[in-house]
Amino acid sequence: MKSKEFIFSHLHRQKRLSEAMETEFDLIVIGGGITGAGILLDAVLRGMNVLLVEKNDFASGTSSKSTKLIHGGLRYLKQFEFGLVRDSGTERAVVHQNACHLVHPERMLLPIVQEGTFGKFSASLAIAFYDRLASVKKEQRKKSLSKAETLKMEPHLNAKALKSGIVYSEYRTDDARLTIEIIKAGIRNSASAFSYMEVEDFSKGESGIHEVQCIDKINDSTCVFRAKAVVSAAGPWVDEVRKLDNARRQTSLYLTKGVHLVFDRVDFPVNNAIYFDAFDGRMLFAIPRRESVYVGTTDSPYNSDLDEIECSISDAEYILNAVNNYFNIPQLGIEHVKSSWAGLRPLIQQKGKGPTELSRKDEIFYSDSGLISIAGGKLTGYRTMAKRVVDIVNKKLGSSYGECSTKEYKIHEHPFNTYQAYVDWTARICEDYKERFALKDIRELCDNFGKDSLLILDQCISTKKNDLILSQLDYCLEYESVFHPLDFLERRTGWLYFNIEKVRRNFQAVIERLNTHFGWSTELKEKMLFDCQRALKMHSLGGAE
Ligand code: FAD
Repeated sequence: MKSKEFIFSHLHRQKRLSEAMETEFDLIVIGGGITGAGILLDAVLRGMNVLLVEKNDFASGTSSKSTKLIHGGLRYLKQFEFGLVRDSGTERAVVHQNACHLVHPERMLLPIVQEGTFGKFSASLAIAFYDRLASVKKEQRKKSLSKAETLKMEPHLNAKALKSGIVYSEYRTDDARLTIEIIKAGIRNSASAFSYMEVEDFSKGESGIHEVQCIDKINDSTCVFRAKAVVSAAGPWVDEVRKLDNARRQTSLYLTKGVHLVFDRVDFPVNNAIYFDAFDGRMLFAIPRRESVYVGTTDSPYNSDLDEIECSISDAEYILNAVNNYFNIPQLGIEHVKSSWAGLRPLIQQKGKGPTELSRKDEIFYSDSGLISIAGGKLTGYRTMAKRVVDIVNKKLGSSYGECSTKEYKIHEHPFNTYQAYVDWTARICEDYKERFALKDIRELCDNFGKDSLLILDQCISTKKNDLILSQLDYCLEYESVFHPLDFLERRTGWLYFNIEKVRRNFQAVIERLNTHFGWSTELKEKMLFDCQRALKMHSLGGAE
């Protein structure tokens, strides 16, 4: 397939929109989270002409609010979900191979404590089984630790309750970046995608839906797109979209809220990712990320506004209590929370089951109109979910397209044997500019942008502006369809969560740059300022502005 010259910028939006409205697509995908992104890429690689529409920014739904693990889900073994654990466990290595700058192996410590969820024997057995189910390589399989070894790894564990520990393998990622990279891979292969494009209605003919009516939220105009097949991957909004189609008035999803808190590592000094017991039989993750540690998650039924999901003070107190109970550190309070995020799990309803008992499996729903909806599942299984949906679409289109090829497809390659070799090489290139770039910034750049970090560094060095932040913004404006300052500050860089001070110091400069780029009205610029100030306040739980 011929690929277009790669530009993914809002400045080309009107032209791209006019072209899209004149095209009959094979497939329209509703929702630019990880599920929609996976479907877009799978379909375009098979040769389909595909369009994706997302009502806000890409990955602005659940796909930027997860625990950011590519994992098999040890706890699902307790619910006897062997198939789910095997499939997502095996898929971890595939996702790592295909996006190695975004999916990194992470050794996870499971401390065994008195009256904890796992006893020494049951944990050892479960993790050995977990490793086997997920075909984990021999050298990466679980390792049992004595109490002294566990404390050496994590001196701030409560020594009184600790009995021993087990280290096992998982992967960590950046969910929002993984999503945008998959969408970019789709665009590189000639797919189309628009953010800030909300589906409002469908038109149906004899053979079902043939038109999707959207509102362009950037200029309030109506856009109508045509397609032979339509898939909704609208995550927590799947029922809402099905209602637009009059397909179902009853709900099929059960939404639960999960929050995460971010602390400075100085306040919460852990060295490793830890899977630890809360006081109520649930388990939480504490995961170091650069100078921060994030902790989560909760799992509580949610029935409020789907577009205004916040971490409440009581959500935060639950996590603070869990940390304060478990770790031997000076007590943490709300004032130590640097940032937070809250997201919704679109779980599939099962009669008589509470939130934590509900399966994390995905499900596909069919409407009489031909609308295909997929919900549930996990970040980890996005590729196999996409494969199943696109197989169905292919059948609907007369099986005229090829087989799924995403298993071998490298989302973003670099020409080195290992990712570390690539980072070292980039750092060496920057030796001459030591006074401009800190090593940690280079590392972060590589983690976020992979081999394109060289483009950004080159731009930064050649313009002599010495401004790595604005160089990243310029890159994201041209290649990552950034429109709102929070697209950049929250989802393309993750700074709103993991470096909120940087956002406080720089959001006005970012807005100025966007204003010059897009030529906003005074009202729009004011709104962007307001949105950033509100986000800063909300994510820091009302802390320093
Ligand atoms: P979303 O990311 O929500 O995407 C749906 C998109 O559809 C949204 O962006 C929305 O704006 C858009 N949309 C809705 N309506 C419309 C419309 N009318 N028109 C256009 N667009 C529309 N999984 C893991 O594998 N590992 C983890 O560590 C993990 N941790 C988690 C922690 C929490 C707290 C939660 C909540 C989930 C976690 N998950 C994890 C699960 C995983 O995050 C989700 O399964 C996944 O992100 C869902 O992606 P999605 O694309 O289906 O939904």
